[in-house]
Amino acid sequence: MKVLITPKSFKNYRELTYPLLESAGLQVIENNTGSTLSEAELISLAGEGVAGIIVGLDPLSERVIAHCRDLRAISKYGVGLDNIDLVAAAKRNIQVKNALGSNNTSVAELTIAFMFEAVRHVGAQGVIVKAGRWERIMGLELTGKTMGLIGAGQIGREVAKRARGLLMNVHIFDPYFDDVSFLERHQVKLVDNLEALLARADVVSLHLPLTPNTKHLIDRVALQLMKKSAVLINTSRGELVDEEALYEALTTGGIAYAATDVFSAEPPAPGEKLLNLSNFLLTPHTGAYTREANERMALYSTQNIVTMLKG
Ligand code: NAD
Repeated sequence: MKVLITPKSFKNYRELTYPLLESAGLQVIENNTGSTLSEAELISLAGEGVAGIIVGLDPLSERVIAHCRDLRAISKYGVGLDNIDLVAAAKRNIQVKNALGSNNTSVAELTIAFMFEAVRHVGAQGVIVKAGRWERIMGLELTGKTMGLIGAGQIGREVAKRARGLLMNVHIFDPYFDDVSFLERHQVKLVDNLEALLARADVVSLHLPLTPNTKHLIDRVALQLMKKSAVLINTSRGELVDEEALYEALTTGGIAYAATDVFSAEPPAPGEKLLNLSNFLLTPHTGAYTREANERMALYSTQNIVTMLKG
């Protein structure tokens, strides 16, 4: 039985993971292209005998899944499953698991870094000084401000704890949240009205999955509900936000700042107009790209594929 491993950074954890695969009798096929695989590359690499795929952001579409005749298990090197056609996988009885809890700390820490950049402009002011100008950008304090979290699973809760540590008020909108003791322990408020949260929050941060129901959750109407001084943070998935409406909000004073680690097209198309704005920050999907998170993602995704195939 063979396992195709697609993520580029997985190779750094060969010593940790390959013995687990070998002792389960699984033979490894590596992605040696140096980049995320296309549908055609996936189809050609996941041929006969490939029973499992450890997948990064590569598109496991219906077409790819239909071609992978021997595929029985997909293990996500990460959390978001939106690059996998879950319906097509279920139809063929292909099991799917993600590495839940592997990167929540790293993504939460990036969220806090975004928040500080948005209100204190540390990086931006450093760039100004290096360009030979001794100019300041007026900042804002976070203490006493309200953080509105949309989605409070593994990552959202870590963000909530850190925002409380910064003496912020934290409001959560998550219709499936059921951990009452977390709310009490951390003095966090669960709200059942998204519009009210958007209107009240100084910082709105997205920590929910991308699904057909959540696509463009932050649209023109949602942005209009937000404070003019508000900061929007997105470390989840680009398509949660209507980027056309975001451009409009950022250029007309609708909201103050947006920081995002994810984009509808990664990398964005050449000439993407949002990238010209000083109140817009985009990083290259780097939320989970820390030594600690990558190691956990490699280990958990390996353990998951072994369990699914050899259970
Ligand atoms: P999780 O499954 O633990 O939490 C998701 C939460 O969203 C759940 O509590 C769920 O109840 C809630 N939710 C679902 N639908 C909702 C809705 N309509 N409104 C409000 N809440 C809703 O996942 P997680 O580990 O916290 O990850 C969240 C997302 O972050 C992932 O789906 C993934 O897309 C993204 N992510 C990005 C990176 C990165 O590198 N930037 C890394 C890891 C995860």
